[in-house]
Amino acid sequence: MEFPPKIEQEYQKELIDNVRGFCLGNGLVLLPPVMEGEDKVRSNTCIQAPVSLFPTPFPKKLFNQANSVGLTFNELYANIARDVEFIDEILSEISPFDKFQASLWNLWKEIRSEICQPNQLLLSRSDYLCNTSTDIQGNIRGISQVEFNTIASSFGGLSNKVNQLHQFLYNDIRYANLHPLLNNQLAENNTLNEIVDGFEHAHQVYKSGYLRSKHSPYILFVVQENERNVFDQRLLEFELSRRNIRIIRRTFAQLSQQAKLSEDNVLKVKGIEVSIVYYRAGYAPEDYKSERDWRVRRMIEVSLAIKCPTLALQLAGCKKVQQVLVDEHVLRKNLNPAQIRKINKCFVDILPFDQSEKGKIAHSIVADRERCKKYVLKPQREGGGNNIYKEDIVDFVNNLKDNELSSYILMELIEPPGNLHNYLVRYTDDKLVKADVVSELGIYGSVLFNNHTIIRNEHAGHLLRTKSRQSDEGGVALGISVIDECLLI
Ligand code: ADP
Ligand code: MG
Ligand code: MG
Repeated sequence: MEFPPKIEQEYQKELIDNVRGFCLGNGLVLLPPVMEGEDKVRSNTCIQAPVSLFPTPFPKKLFNQANSVGLTFNELYANIARDVEFIDEILSEISPFDKFQASLWNLWKEIRSEICQPNQLLLSRSDYLCNTSTDIQGNIRGISQVEFNTIASSFGGLSNKVNQLHQFLYNDIRYANLHPLLNNQLAENNTLNEIVDGFEHAHQVYKSGYLRSKHSPYILFVVQENERNVFDQRLLEFELSRRNIRIIRRTFAQLSQQAKLSEDNVLKVKGIEVSIVYYRAGYAPEDYKSERDWRVRRMIEVSLAIKCPTLALQLAGCKKVQQVLVDEHVLRKNLNPAQIRKINKCFVDILPFDQSEKGKIAHSIVADRERCKKYVLKPQREGGGNNIYKEDIVDFVNNLKDNELSSYILMELIEPPGNLHNYLVRYTDDKLVKADVVSELGIYGSVLFNNHTIIRNEHAGHLLRTKSRQSDEGGVALGISVIDECLLI
């Protein structure tokens, strides 16, 4: 069967209208981009979030494979976040050449003896692409990990809504006829609830063991100024509120005025006790406008509130750690052989720029335009838009100063399957345009742990982001990807 199906002109307009109506009516929305002449994001109007018209076909076997390694990756990163020596070793290699990572690491070193909340909360998202290339034994790779996010893993709220959008469209017999496969094959998606389950559990842990005031504590969402993806966050807030857990949203700037630590390290915002601090900011250098914002981060880190994530978890999520994990002996310290076999299958080669044999190979690749075509160069950054791809690597590296390359990693490009198309619907589109697409699957997990034990480690749903193949980089926030759902085939 042809996918996606041809759609007659007249029905196209109606379909776009239905997509837009569902999005705007159900909170599948973003704040509008900043236009010329405006200096900040307008908060009194919204636009439809970019979505796919049909759920994109995704092999069920690979979907299951990605899900089956979720809890193991969570355990791995929880173990790393508890391994002070390991993090120190990794960060000492990149810090001399990366000021931001150095600031995070230095802050952590300064305060780690003062930490009074033993529990750490991780809301992870492990991202994968289907990989058609073969390994050394000649087997098709299957699913390969792009990265593991430990901070501000977003789109859990909106992802859930896209699943509902596709179900809604399917209720129209004309759409259903175009797309008979959809019946029974749309992936189940309960992401929003499962993410909130993790917060609710940690909130109860705080209430039963640490609460100091007579009133119920709040969860604090630390947010960016000019954030456009606020409704993704609001959906979490609305679900928490339905469960009688209130949240407050604050930027670092606001917190510098309104947040205080009591003598017994209770974090209070305008007098309200905070149970959990959930960061949707703090992962990019621009999030810290001055020393004032670093002081806020410090205050939160030493407070009794449970942090999602802690500085240790944020550092554990840096790309350099991902590169080191490709080495099996590092895994052996943290996981059992059966676990290692499973997650090893998800790794493509990642090279460091150091004095090792692998480092020498990395240096020789970036000097060769032809060999570079199979690689992506990544700095220690989050949030999209930071990587350098293929031939661009050569000139980029030539312009770096001495040794600066040491804070980068060189990752083999994953080769997603070709000849896959879908219609992507953005708020500016008034007709359907078929795009050649690549989909990235993110698996969420929620883990609460301390130095002795993992208290709770659960799946928390998934996200499918689909981009046009011409673009190397993805990213819904960057306007490149759309939010999608898996049609399991
Ligand atoms: P960030 O933390 O900024 O999201 P990522 O490592 O996820 O950084 O890279 C951003 C995007 O670049 C990914 O969403 C993916 O589209 C693309 N990308 C990253 N690594 C690879 C890779 N090894 N192969 C193919 N595409 C990649
Ligand atoms: Mg990331
Ligand atoms: Mg990413």
